[in-house]
Amino acid sequence: MLRMKNSCEKCKSPLKKDGEAYVCSFECTFCSSCHSDFKGVCPNCDGELVMRPKRLISPPAAGLRLIKRKIFRK
Ligand SMILES: [Zn+2]
Ligand SMILES: [Zn+2]
Repeated sequence: MLRMKNSCEKCKSPLKKDGEAYVCSFECTFCSSCHSDFKGVCPNCDGELVMRPKRLISPPAAGLRLIKRKIFRK
């Protein structure tokens, strides 16, 4: 599971789990303004920075939904 870092590694500005953030494949995490400063390339590993998928519910809640889906599946 992706670790959801809650601040930008460059400028330390706070990142919300359901807000805009950019990550590379090593989970270096940056805000949208640093992302445009870097032109979409991670300064740590030269990897591609992509928009992080938003996480709207907590992992336990997601697990519960998956279990329910199994129980009620026909
Ligand atoms: Zn930043
Ligand atoms: Zn990186």
